[in-house]
Amino acid sequence: MKDKCNKYEGLFVFNDETALNSHIQDCSDCAQEAKVQQEVSSLLDEVKFYYRAKRKRHINRLRAACAIVFLLFSSISLGGIVITNDDILDTLKYGETLSAEELGFPVDSYGLLMVD
Ligand SMILES: [Zn+2]
Repeated sequence: MKDKCNKYEGLFVFNDETALNSHIQDCSDCAQEAKVQQEVSSLLDEVKFYYRAKRKRHINRLRAACAIVFLLFSSISLGGIVITNDDILDTLKYGETLSAEELGFPVDSYGLLMVD
């Protein structure tokens, strides 16, 4: 019984295309292997579009999730600033920041709080 030729992989990986093609011309085992490889390649080409579209959908979902998380966290932190920062709250309510005098505190001629 004749052993199957196992040079195809070595020639494919480590040699140039002309050496591989010249061996395929003489060796039926490697010609069969080359035919199988070609069929696999054509099958991969057929389904490549499907997998690229699927990957694009996953990337778009990931982008949308990142945008939602970003909006959620940025609105929460912005809300924290508005609630805790009285100057911004005054500007939003009255159009300007209220001074100590406008808030009803006793002030001197410089607008500073007077303490007795
Ligand atoms: Zn061979």
